[in-house]
Amino acid sequence: MKKQNAFVLCVMVLAFQMLFFGCKPDVSTQNTLVAGKGQAKYVFLFIGDGMSMSQISSAEVFATARASKDIEVTRLGFSQFPVTGLVTTYDAGTFITDSASAGTAIATGNKTLSGVVNMDVGKTQEFKPITEYIHEAGMKVGIVSTVTLNHATPASFYAKAPSRSNYYDIAVQLAQSDFDYYGGGSLLQHNGKNGDEQSAIDIARSNGFTYVDTKETINALKPGSGKVIAISPVLQDDGAMTYEIDRKRDELSLADFTRKGIELLDNPKGFFMMVEGGKIDWASHANDAGAAIHDVLALDAAIGVALEFAKKHPKETLIVVTGDHETGGMTIGFAGTQYDTFFDKVALQTRSYVAFDEEVLKPYKAKTPANAARLADLIPAIQQSFGVDYNSLTDFQKEQIEFAFQRSMGNEQIRSFAEDIYVLYGGYEPLTVKLTQMMNQTAGIGWTSYAHTGVPVPAFASGVHQEIFGGYYDNTDLYYKLASVMNLKVN
Ligand SMILES: [Zn+2]
Repeated sequence: MKKQNAFVLCVMVLAFQMLFFGCKPDVSTQNTLVAGKGQAKYVFLFIGDGMSMSQISSAEVFATARASKDIEVTRLGFSQFPVTGLVTTYDAGTFITDSASAGTAIATGNKTLSGVVNMDVGKTQEFKPITEYIHEAGMKVGIVSTVTLNHATPASFYAKAPSRSNYYDIAVQLAQSDFDYYGGGSLLQHNGKNGDEQSAIDIARSNGFTYVDTKETINALKPGSGKVIAISPVLQDDGAMTYEIDRKRDELSLADFTRKGIELLDNPKGFFMMVEGGKIDWASHANDAGAAIHDVLALDAAIGVALEFAKKHPKETLIVVTGDHETGGMTIGFAGTQYDTFFDKVALQTRSYVAFDEEVLKPYKAKTPANAARLADLIPAIQQSFGVDYNSLTDFQKEQIEFAFQRSMGNEQIRSFAEDIYVLYGGYEPLTVKLTQMMNQTAGIGWTSYAHTGVPVPAFASGVHQEIFGGYYDNTDLYYKLASVMNLKVN
């Protein structure tokens, strides 16, 4: 081939690649669809916030240990998906991303700084999320999360903000959006940080949204209800849905919000739904494996609802499951238990750390002066909440719990004991975090951090064009892969 012709061909190939995959032709080879298959018309993206293999494997080992003493692994529904990939998560400023930059990477294909939602590192240029292209293509869009709907991960699918903490501004962008279904946790600071702004809920209503926050009104929603914001009637910490471990049987679950989303979004032109299990992250920040594991199982149940839908539309549905980063540096294995695990102990936990704080520790603190506080008063509640047999603990363990208890009760003289309070308790209630850590350790679960970590996350795919989600790639590639399966012409 003549040099000139080769150049022309090269330019043509590059232009073709840029047309379909944006300005990153290096990733396009991984995103090539198998010819002869139609575009994905129904696309589900499940994001386990803070979920990497440790959280997933722990849920699997837990599910096994709950049923038998055999050494085997009970697979979750999504970990049996036919295609598995690995995804790097670093952002523009650190190997350890936060949810805002990770959400930006997945939703727009761009790296940015931690804390920034769909804007560049200079916080001047806005990035257009994939959901806007999806909406322009005539498909419906749904966004579901167990945490507040204006939290970083869901926000990445409809908003642009220099800071994820601009909750009111993000809530207003949700209210002014033209997407079809928002479901799950509430809108944090919906009437402004100081409560003196026009409610984003009112703005949403004037923009044509139906806003519902009771079980009856949510259940009554039917196709044709128009644009909907459906908020869980039961909220726990910071306006989020309750942890799965604390959820009463008659409370709406993440699976319920997913099922309602399918019902409302299903239409001849198709839909895209992002569903976030947001509290896997929150539980992992607090080093509470029991709460994290139950929320992984709740995410798996929600994915099961999507799988049921996929059975009816096998040639047109794609389900992708991933995490945005790992949280807590969780692992299966602890120095004190060496090669053994005792995950059946995790099944003895009956409350999340939040429920223990709210239902046990706070009421006790409210009625008990620090100098009258006795750990013995709380032992029955501790045993009932965490399955810890206090008498079986070592003197060293009892000492650590006593110190944490004194610290939770505000006894100042105890402070000199700990050279680094943050490393010990991470800003949580000292007694509660010590109890979950100790209980996790006796089960053989270790934690290294109260923040995120920089390990990759897995991706699982099932459905039409599932094969392009195999391999080892970057979180920005998820954007290009999702765009290509829906045949979107993205920038
Ligand atoms: Zn996150």
